[in-house]
Amino acid sequence: MKNVRKVFIYGSDTHSTAAFMPRLMRALETAGIAVSDLLEEDVDMIIVVGGDGTFLRLLRDHEFPSVPIAGVNTGHLGFFMEFMPHELDSFIASVAAGDYTVHRHRPLMATVLHDEGKTDIYKGINDVVVRKNASSIVHLDLSIGSSYIERFSGDGLLISTPAGSTSYNYSLGGGIVDPRVSVIQVSPIAPMNTTSYRAFTSDVILPSDMTVKIEPEHRGSPGLIIVDGAEYRYDCFESISVAMAREEILLVRKTDYSYWSWVAQKFI
Ligand code: NAP
Ligand code: MN
Repeated sequence: MKNVRKVFIYGSDTHSTAAFMPRLMRALETAGIAVSDLLEEDVDMIIVVGGDGTFLRLLRDHEFPSVPIAGVNTGHLGFFMEFMPHELDSFIASVAAGDYTVHRHRPLMATVLHDEGKTDIYKGINDVVVRKNASSIVHLDLSIGSSYIERFSGDGLLISTPAGSTSYNYSLGGGIVDPRVSVIQVSPIAPMNTTSYRAFTSDVILPSDMTVKIEPEHRGSPGLIIVDGAEYRYDCFESISVAMAREEILLVRKTDYSYWSWVAQKFI
């Protein structure tokens, strides 16, 4: 891969990140790698320091940049953050030498219709949640492609990417999807199943070129959309359509990275 000569740094505001930053700066300077204050065209790599939440915020703040992103884990789980602070020297040496791999991940693109014709677009690398609010049951009409499927009743629906399959989806009993398989997964959140309400209790898995459409039973009622953990509230929610975006983000991994070893290391 490309020898890294200039980086942009993005960090969380925790004590462990603050303690790591001076060490990172010194190591970059020693290796002759410049640090840019802005995410300019000639930046070779973004170094993100924190946890997965920091990685998700970087994507949101910088609109899913197309520059390779390397994560250093000073947070908790750090599924996206492969490099550890104690590996700083070998991390810097390998990026300077171009000795790393890049894994491509496509985000979801969610289009929300609200307030009689207004549109908002959000991107998420993990997942999109559709609810009514924090506590109510919601009744949602689910369509996949041009087929109407069901009226779902429960807490909400979650739509996830393979990258997000190890996050909220996994806690809901969804399947862990190897990111080399390009699919969209729809998971029910606390589905109700009685003689009054009936919907799938399992996840459904779709090809990545399909669109999932969700409409509240009463079009124009309140809705809560959560994308990669960021909440967006609507008083007059009409529908949301979710599909795979065309662009990709580039995640830097070690050359010997193995998805299933990483999953086992983080979960078992
Ligand atoms: P958070 O509340 O700190 O995140 C929940 C946990 O999920 C953290 O431990 C986080 O890692 C981890 N995580 C995030 N993305 C992951 C991934 N792709 N694979 C495996 N683990 C992952 O909030 P956050 O850090 O801003 O993350 C937002 C995400 O939280 C959402 O996209 C959603 O998937 C997830 N979430 C999970 C649940 C649940 O499991 N019950 C409920 C709500 C939201 P770090 O510790 O490194 O941050
Ligand atoms: Mn977090």
